[in-house]
Amino acid sequence: PIRQRLLVVANRLPVSAVRRGEESWSLEISAGGLVSALLGVKEFEARWIGWAGVNVPDEAGQRALTKALAEKRCIPVFLDEEIVHQYYNGYCNNILWPLFHYLGLPQEDRLATTRSFQSQFAAYKKANQMFADVVNEHYEEGDVVWCHDYHLMFLPKCLKDYNSQMKVGWFLHTPFPSSEIHRTLPSRSELLRAVLAADLVGFHTYDYARHFVSACTRILGLEGTPEGVEDQGRLTRVAAFPIGIDSDRFMRALEVPQVQENIKELKDRFTGRKVMLGVDRLDMIKGIPQKILAFEKFLEENPYWRDKVVLLQIAVPTRTDVPEYQKLTSQVHEIVGRINGRFGTLTAVPIHHLDRSLDFHALCALYAVTDVALVTSLRDGMNLVSYEFVACQESKKGVLILSEFAGAAQSLGAGAILVNPWNITEVAASIGQALNMSAEEREKRHRHNFLHVTTHTAQEWAETFVSELNDTVIEAQQRI
Ligand code: UDP
Repeated sequence: PIRQRLLVVANRLPVSAVRRGEESWSLEISAGGLVSALLGVKEFEARWIGWAGVNVPDEAGQRALTKALAEKRCIPVFLDEEIVHQYYNGYCNNILWPLFHYLGLPQEDRLATTRSFQSQFAAYKKANQMFADVVNEHYEEGDVVWCHDYHLMFLPKCLKDYNSQMKVGWFLHTPFPSSEIHRTLPSRSELLRAVLAADLVGFHTYDYARHFVSACTRILGLEGTPEGVEDQGRLTRVAAFPIGIDSDRFMRALEVPQVQENIKELKDRFTGRKVMLGVDRLDMIKGIPQKILAFEKFLEENPYWRDKVVLLQIAVPTRTDVPEYQKLTSQVHEIVGRINGRFGTLTAVPIHHLDRSLDFHALCALYAVTDVALVTSLRDGMNLVSYEFVACQESKKGVLILSEFAGAAQSLGAGAILVNPWNITEVAASIGQALNMSAEEREKRHRHNFLHVTTHTAQEWAETFVSELNDTVIEAQQRI
């Protein structure tokens, strides 16, 4: 049978491109969640459309990169530096990202932000149009177009303007905030209308979907139905599609000899101590200071545990050129320094804080030797780290402490200890509960989570979304 073509459009292509010469590029596939999800889907033939993450001003370079990417089924959108600055750094990361995570619109230098807002929004629309142009150029009748994330909220509208018959879905990987938050956005209505041009709009949780529908009813005055949002008889279907991980990939990794070796080394290194783990990009939404302060409180109140537990915090650098992120980095370093100074000994410190990322195998080994994982996001679309930890815990059956503000709390709530990360007393108490938990209870909780993680995979997520999109379009045609 002929497989349906799927055009996956996301801001970044799943490759990093490094220029080796005038007409030569080396490409490396980055196996993020979305890539492994779609690799597992056999009934579609996926193509990727997006920005390669590099500025290529010359035509020879663009031609060579386009050719190299084609072998990986990738199609580039070329954005120049000014557009990237205004669209990506500006509107996406400085406006939409904080707003969707309840951090509000930028507070500092409010007037400057307000003045640059219009030009950033204009660049955002322009960038979305550039993505649409590339999609349109490669579109063939019958294709499914799947747009991803807050970078591309205008894309559904641009695509439908080109061709109203195109099957267009849009999925948001972050939270969608309460309509009262969305209401503060100067471009609130235009953005909602652009998204509503899609046939199917998807979110990680039912709450996010509900917030989106409320925003459309309250801000646009449209009608919300159990199916979605209706505008003059035309329905945009809105639903929740919680993402998952390729759990087999993690479990297979634990069998690799080099990973087993690494696991043994880590176990030796930390004998006599329980291992607690945090893995986050160093972003304000991850609640890293809150997590470390809770750990300090736990050590303060439990002298017995001081030399029997260690917290390994992997803090992956992100958006390092933004002043707010630089400030967060020094704030975290200061707290870690204070706690290690306070509770460290000549031979050991309670917190190992790493400003770096780990490769896939090293990360799997770390997940496997962990006794307690700590996820304290203040807001988080889903949080895949919590899923990955669970997938690697078949032998250890460790405990997951999970923020109720992560999307994952909706699915792993029964097995994890749920916490409000703002309540440091509660998080400190949960650390104690986790470290002292009986083997039977750990087993019971792990079974719950493990069953969920291994049966709600990324492949299944992608299949469900695309087949729902196909169905939605058929139903709409039947209504006419
Ligand atoms: N990750 C990684 N190397 C690291 C730390 C994290 O590859 O050193 C990956 C991790 O495996 C996970 C992703 O980064 O798949 C983080 O996803 P999550 O949903 O938890 O948070 P996000 O960073 O998308 O906000």
